[in-house]
Amino acid sequence: MRDRAHKLGAKLINGTVHKLEIPNNDKDPYVLHYADHAKEGLQGEAKTLKVDMVIGADGANSRVARAIDAGDYNYAIAFQERIRLPEDKMAYYEELAEMYVGDDVSPDFYAWVFPKYDHVAVGTGTMRPNQARIKELQRGIRARAAKRLEGGEIIKVEAHPIPEHPRPRRVVGRVALVGDAAGTVTKSSGEGIYFAAKSARMCAETIVEFSNSGERALSEDELKLYIKRWDKEYGLTYKVLDILQSVFYRSDASREAFVEMCSDIDVQKLTFDSYLYKTVVPANPLTQLKITAKTVGSLLRGYALAP
Ligand SMILES: Cc1cc2nc3c(=O)[nH]c(=O)nc-3n(C[C@H](O)[C@H](O)[C@H](O)COP(=O)(O)OP(=O)(O)OC[C@H]3O[C@@H](n4cnc5c(N)ncnc54)[C@H](O)[C@@H]3O)c2cc1C
Repeated sequence: MRDRAHKLGAKLINGTVHKLEIPNNDKDPYVLHYADHAKEGLQGEAKTLKVDMVIGADGANSRVARAIDAGDYNYAIAFQERIRLPEDKMAYYEELAEMYVGDDVSPDFYAWVFPKYDHVAVGTGTMRPNQARIKELQRGIRARAAKRLEGGEIIKVEAHPIPEHPRPRRVVGRVALVGDAAGTVTKSSGEGIYFAAKSARMCAETIVEFSNSGERALSEDELKLYIKRWDKEYGLTYKVLDILQSVFYRSDASREAFVEMCSDIDVQKLTFDSYLYKTVVPANPLTQLKITAKTVGSLLRGYALAP
């Protein structure tokens, strides 16, 4: 994507932004203070850049979000190990991804073994993180998948916050946040890559539409159209996934109900379509009714609604 942007005329700067100076009117430029890493050395060379607009795509610990006082969000912590498996073990994951639930692997989210092209990512997430607990949960998922991970070699370890909600302010002045900086990860699945790219695209499309081919900067109201369009397209999906997570991820009993419900072919179809098309795809009313009845049945059987 970076190379394509470059080919299409973007000027690339390899830098770390340390500060964003905000003008006190809607005409003057924003001033980015950054370390330019074009030359050798970790520190980089201190430089500034004046710009008309800023898109903060700098992830969950976004400095841009802090600079515009975008407000906080709740977050989970995800931990994962990238493991290279022997060929025969990797073959098992060629066409499937695994999701594990239970207090031993996560008290309020899930753990996973996801194939990543030539290796697997084995990890877990929780809303109530502390270092010792995360390590314990990671041991839990490693134990559950032990047989299938035999002979594997850890090639990378990652830990990072996963936003649980959008930030209270995603556009302030001529600054917009996208992706994790804005808080676009979906509940239940924790999927963030698609939504980060999509939010960036929608923000860029709005800028292209109103900037007269880059002739003028957008006002806050014009830029906020991107948020309106986003919420219109994905608001319901976020709500449904939020409800799913709070109902089904809260105890082993409710997770058992979730697993039971997921064995149903109609639920599988609905889930798959929703995942593929990034929307809560409506099934026909009869199927919808059947799914609702099965959901309630599963929950009651698993005493999942008990406090
Ligand atoms: C362990 C784990 C597993 C995950 N698994 C999945 C998965 O399987 N599928 C999925 O869809 N999502 C997954 N997610 C979520 C997904 O990774 C994120 O939602 C997604 O990467 C967000 O993209 P982004 O571009 O907004 O932010 P990021 O990917 O965090 O990118 C932000 C970029 O900004 C740069 N940056 C930050 N600060 C500065 C600064 N001051 N100056 C300059 N540059 C800066 C960073 O170096 C980085 O390159 C996972 C997350 C975690 C933590």
